[in-house]
Amino acid sequence: MMKKKLIAALSVILAFAMLFCTACGGNDNPAPEAEGGDAAQAGTIAKIKTGTGSTTGTYYAFTTAVAQILKTDAYSFEVLSTGGSQANIEGIEDGDYQFAIVQNDVMNYAFKGTNGFEAPITDFSAVGCVYPEVCQLIATEASGIKSVSDLKGKTVAVGDVGSGVYYNATQILAAAGLDIDADIKKVAASFGDSATQLKDGSIDAAFITAGTPTTAITELATSTKVVAVDLGDEVIAKLKAEYPFYAEYTMTDKDYDFVKDPVKTVAIMATFIVTNDMSEDQVYEITKKLWESKEDITAAHAKGSEMDIKIAVSSCGDVPLHAGAEKYYKEAGVIA
Ligand code: GLU
Repeated sequence: MMKKKLIAALSVILAFAMLFCTACGGNDNPAPEAEGGDAAQAGTIAKIKTGTGSTTGTYYAFTTAVAQILKTDAYSFEVLSTGGSQANIEGIEDGDYQFAIVQNDVMNYAFKGTNGFEAPITDFSAVGCVYPEVCQLIATEASGIKSVSDLKGKTVAVGDVGSGVYYNATQILAAAGLDIDADIKKVAASFGDSATQLKDGSIDAAFITAGTPTTAITELATSTKVVAVDLGDEVIAKLKAEYPFYAEYTMTDKDYDFVKDPVKTVAIMATFIVTNDMSEDQVYEITKKLWESKEDITAAHAKGSEMDIKIAVSSCGDVPLHAGAEKYYKEAGVIA
């Protein structure tokens, strides 16, 4: 008799335990805040902490617009202002962000642990490249700077701490035979601070890697005479030969009113990345909605018009696509 009761009680406990397990193992169960690990892999991240750049850059405005369009009843994005690409990648590694927009060149350096990254960071994967970011060398007219080599001895902003700008500045200067540490007075500054310092004359030039027109520069140009400096064919050829991510880009008055004659430079690609801890289903849904909302995104932010699914994957380099993104691109016929 006792034994029967015990068995009955045990089976009730077992039944509850099984019920509970089914509930927590389900793939569509919202996990309020995933900190990585099994729960995060199985569930939906309800509030996706998203790393961007400074508020007067392009990442922040573009991602804010995209986030409004991509959110669903199950999840939304908390768009955060950050130092930029490097800070975003390291932030994903540290669990501070689950989604981010970064430069495709910098994410490859991070993934491989090269070009200044001490060790590979592999906790993230790609969702897709979205728009070109122009490597802009902006100088005050008063500085007289007309070429990269004119930067020798000048005070130059090279991007915020944690930005991707620093990588481009280093490489562009090197292609002109200048060392970023020895040959210029380098200043770490966000785009907004770079603009303020160009305006008050405390710096001569600033490197800006961002989608154009970049708000900080457009605003600056209303009060200060500035020029976009042509990198020159030789520097551009060297950059392209040495680094596979640079494409040639010609700035015109479409980029800024103050660009009267075409200015030759290079561009890389802004790319959405995601923590490997996000579920395949959620990343699939985000990727699908991203590409199927191109019109809405373009209405909310001009860079949407430059989104091209054909290069979304091919520009990712060695950084793998997240399984959820890969599933979508296969379905869309972008990859086999
Ligand atoms: N590309 C820049 C970076 O990685 C940020 C550009 C932006 O804020 O639009 O730091």
